[in-house]
Amino acid sequence: MEITESQIKSIVGEVMAKMQLGSSVTGMHGVFPDMNTAIEKAKEAQKQVRVMSMDQREKIISKIRVKIKENAETLARMGVDETGMGNVGDKILKHLLVAEKTPGTEDIKTQAWSGDRGLTLVEMGPFGVIGAITPCTNPSETVLCNTMGMLAGGNTVVFNPHPQAIRTSIFAINLLNEASLEAGGPDNIACTVEKPTLASSDIMMKHKDIPLLVATGGPGVVTAVLSSGKRGIGAGAGNPPALVDETADIAKAAQDIVNGCTFDNNLPCIAEKEVVAVDAICDELMRCMVEEQGCYLASPEIQDKLAHTVINEKGALNRKCVGRSAKALLSMVGVEVPDNIRCIIFEGPKEHPLITTELMMPILGVVRAKNFRDAVEQAVWLEHGNRHSAHIHSKNVDRITEYARAIDTAILVKNGPSYAALGFGGEGFPTFTIASRTGEGLTSAQTFTKRRRCTMSDSLCIR
Ligand code: NAD
Repeated sequence: MEITESQIKSIVGEVMAKMQLGSSVTGMHGVFPDMNTAIEKAKEAQKQVRVMSMDQREKIISKIRVKIKENAETLARMGVDETGMGNVGDKILKHLLVAEKTPGTEDIKTQAWSGDRGLTLVEMGPFGVIGAITPCTNPSETVLCNTMGMLAGGNTVVFNPHPQAIRTSIFAINLLNEASLEAGGPDNIACTVEKPTLASSDIMMKHKDIPLLVATGGPGVVTAVLSSGKRGIGAGAGNPPALVDETADIAKAAQDIVNGCTFDNNLPCIAEKEVVAVDAICDELMRCMVEEQGCYLASPEIQDKLAHTVINEKGALNRKCVGRSAKALLSMVGVEVPDNIRCIIFEGPKEHPLITTELMMPILGVVRAKNFRDAVEQAVWLEHGNRHSAHIHSKNVDRITEYARAIDTAILVKNGPSYAALGFGGEGFPTFTIASRTGEGLTSAQTFTKRRRCTMSDSLCIR
């Protein structure tokens, strides 16, 4: 049966009304008034998950996949309505990607050595209850993807979601628990609190029953988790440059860069945040962006207005501008453009505030480089040592190698849009937690396990 647009709007309206902040969230699985109770409930659930067969864990994960697909549009609309960020169409695609391609229990692998002196196995075991902190930019995507991986590894999870996205996060957590119950698993495989705060996050970080913390967000939260004295996985900020040299297919580079940059209004941390183009092709690249890819070329006056609108005097982002469309941003500075304007571009020095800052908006500054060497230097500077993501458009493999070594990021997309790195029009699995700072890279079920060696001395080697 087809669900119409107005029916979906009405479902979202009902859910949002039921979940108004401050009102009761009774009936939502996994939601508790305080963090200590949430951890206790997740611990009880983990005792059951711990002894489940892998097959049973996989049954729950399959059910989660079905639920995400059924609710992709509702989740997407809730995310946009609650945070004011991103766009519904791309958020639906992100949820479908999570449902279809997030690794499950097949990611949990045993290594074995057998020989004259017996048999040794290294197995991946659960940590127990994992404490996770999630961003407002991909709220339900992160909650769902994290839980699938953590559960595949035999864990349960307690979330301290971004307060600005709590209703969407609670809706996702409820779905996860419904899926578990329907597949014969326990309730509370994922838990949270009604009102997450820094205080509830602090309780989680210090709790004796939380052995592993996973932080997805900006530098503040990653530093907080890494200072906790516990094992921490830190998925922090990026500012990914896209380098274009004269060997690239310039029209395709313009298309890939604008597609990647505008996906979900530039919210993904991996998305192109600025371009560094060698002088020989810089004008042609910008022409393609404007004439073929729906970019608006901002004058110096509009650049100044934008800079003062999207960044405040203290250098912090104006949250009302994050994840907004190019049309909405231009309207804020008094410029009205048609709907087909997808991105704002301009040429400027790398130090320009709209270029050096991780904006998470479809504003793409273009930095002109004298040659390839100069482009690499400027791109490395712009990435700010985050070691997160970078992109390149070049047909010269030696140059691609040189750039990859110099920028040393967890993700490097060659000749494609940034989202290819998440398995979207590219090979590989998706994640919304890219542990750039602590080095795990793209997280999946095996990231959320600990290695244990099991050795049988002088037997069980049957050859
Ligand atoms: P944010 O840092 O404002 O918030 C992220 C989470 O951390 C929220 O739940 C917030 O409540 C919490 N938080 C913030 N400071 C904290 C502190 N001192 N102690 C405890 N908790 C704290 O980020 P955001 O605006 O929600 O998301 C955007 C940022 O996250 C960008 O910098 C983006 O690059 C980054 N991000 C990174 C990844 C990744 O995989 N590496 C994925 C998504 C977003």
